Amino acid sequence: MRVISFLNPKGGSGKTTAVINVATCLSRKGLNVAVVDTDPQMSLTNWNESGKAQFDVYTAASEKDVYEVRKGLKDYDYVVIDGAGSLSVITSAAVMVSDLVIISVTPSPLDFSASGSVVTVLEAQAFNRPVDARFLINRKVNQATMLRVLKDSIANTGIKVFKTGITQRQVYVKTILDGETVFETSDSGAKGEIEVLTNEILATFE
Ligand code: ADP
Ligand code: MG
Repeated sequence: MRVISFLNPKGGSGKTTAVINVATCLSRKGLNVAVVDTDPQMSLTNWNESGKAQFDVYTAASEKDVYEVRKGLKDYDYVVIDGAGSLSVITSAAVMVSDLVIISVTPSPLDFSASGSVVTVLEAQAFNRPVDARFLINRKVNQATMLRVLKDSIANTGIKVFKTGITQRQVYVKTILDGETVFETSDSGAKGEIEVLTNEILATFE
């Protein structure tokens, strides 16, 4: 069992959208996947109201539930944690139980500064047990200057970034509203990038 957390205390950085689509992709590969919603706003839990998720959904009521995932969900191949939308003990708990932390950032500078708190927790955690981490560029737009500034900021942290980002596309918004994922659509661009990203995530464990 491996635990992957998508974190960034800044709401709107695309964590829930990424978690839903990547977890679906893992599940379509035949892997047994659980997703843990740690956000008090419960957007992922609400997304699954119609029960269409291709993975099991758990809702963490507090950081205690996060600390227990390694024991409680040990029979899954992958446990994916959807991070909280504010800096909280939940973020630290998620880092502690993770094998891989994915810091979701958009080209917005505000988003990047919020991610610094996750980097701080990762650095503190490294004194006990180093946790692998990667940045994920989400809501990516073709804006060369913004992307260069973002990539420079990422480079300064010393943490690697996934080659594959998630592009800003209406299909991500629309499918989430319908309780679905891009895999229920014919959008090969969106499906393709989620697949390549998921393979990149899996490759970090090799
Ligand atoms: P978080 O979980 O970090 O708060 P969400 O996944 O809820 O972020 O995304 C915040 C908003 O941005 C939502 O309205 C969502 O539909 C939108 N969004 C997220 N990713 C994308 C994307 N790749 N393209 C377009 N809109 C996106
Ligand atoms: Mg969210």
